[in-house]
Amino acid sequence: MKILVVNCGSSSLKYQIFKVEEGTFNLLAKGSATRIGIEGSLIEHKPSGKEECTIEKPLKNHKEAMLAIEPLLTDKTYGVLKDISEINGIGHRVVHGGEIFKSSVFIDDKVINDIDDLSKFAPLHNPANLTGIQTCRQLMDAPNVAVFDTAVHQTMPEKAFMYGLPLEYYKNKGIRKYGFHGTSHDYVSAEAAKLIGKPFEQCRIITCHLGNGSSITAFKDGKVQDTSMGLTPLQGVVMGTRCGDVDPAAVLSVMQSDGIGPKKMDEILNKKSGLLGLAGSSDLRDVIDMAEQGNQDAENAVEILVYSIQKYIGSYLATLGGADGVVFTAGIGENNPIIRDKVLSCFEYAGIKVDKNKNETGEKIFSTEDSKVKALLIPTNEELMIAMDTYKLIN
Ligand code: ADP
Repeated sequence: MKILVVNCGSSSLKYQIFKVEEGTFNLLAKGSATRIGIEGSLIEHKPSGKEECTIEKPLKNHKEAMLAIEPLLTDKTYGVLKDISEINGIGHRVVHGGEIFKSSVFIDDKVINDIDDLSKFAPLHNPANLTGIQTCRQLMDAPNVAVFDTAVHQTMPEKAFMYGLPLEYYKNKGIRKYGFHGTSHDYVSAEAAKLIGKPFEQCRIITCHLGNGSSITAFKDGKVQDTSMGLTPLQGVVMGTRCGDVDPAAVLSVMQSDGIGPKKMDEILNKKSGLLGLAGSSDLRDVIDMAEQGNQDAENAVEILVYSIQKYIGSYLATLGGADGVVFTAGIGENNPIIRDKVLSCFEYAGIKVDKNKNETGEKIFSTEDSKVKALLIPTNEELMIAMDTYKLIN
């Protein structure tokens, strides 16, 4: 069986093809179209064990990107399929599934309408996800499956997902915490349980997905108990360009004093804040370099980021009543030992002891032998998780 995974971001389309043999998922090819809708669109196609290819061509939208990628999959030189009909299922990442979707589903017209309705909560992502879905439906006969970023968080209890706003906003408008990066948290928490050596259903695990967008999730008894992102992926820890938690009154105050409308404010909070707003770059590598050269704003930004992560881990340790493991994943979590060490440095009291050498060399378990709580480094694999869900549904 062959599964295609399609992940349409706001200006990118990433894809992977897996061949499933006796339950093992082997990667046949992966690639991406980037800078969709802006100058310099680029397709990079990487077939396993074959020459890679790069195509520069204007791509106005995700449909044009998908139409340009499809022939590459069956190309004589770069292709991995004889015919596109070899694909048995297509798994799509969908960012917002609201309260409707608690797990992955086959896509039909009703599901498409529901995803479209939920665009109000994810205006940059759900429409892009839908274009990917519609184009695949036109190009291929295989069933399409939607895998939602929000689904795994649907197990959160009401005390965790409700905001202290008038109840009618939840009842009439669906205003509540939904949480994101669900496939990533789901994947790394299950992998963590294997390393901890206990059944997932008996574990308390805190997963830190720290990338350009970051979120932290608390799992109890195999279910999400709480997560840092909210109605949208803006809430939580400080991110590359997103502010994370702020007092809503601070936002209102700036809107009033500077005469800023909701659209502009949304852009400031999502695209001009976080590390970028604090230190001038959204990339933590740049910010660390600047800090090392003595830039005080950059030094402060690193401290603010670390502190915001510590506060979530600390509050989840408290509400879970301790943890079996704390997991680091995604761009920052996987690649930066200094941040991992700084973040965990205040948790010796809670039984988390980092082995500096293991952390430096990137070992999967980087806590000391006698650490009560395991510190874990687990590379995320959202595409594999989407392929696995798609395979499960088709089977
Ligand atoms: P996205 O959220 O877009 O999927 P990623 O998970 O790929 O992002 O993470 C990208 C971010 O990871 C970059 O913006 C950069 O800040 C950070 N990053 C990657 N490598 C390192 C590193 N060695 N040190 C610090 N930050 C890093």
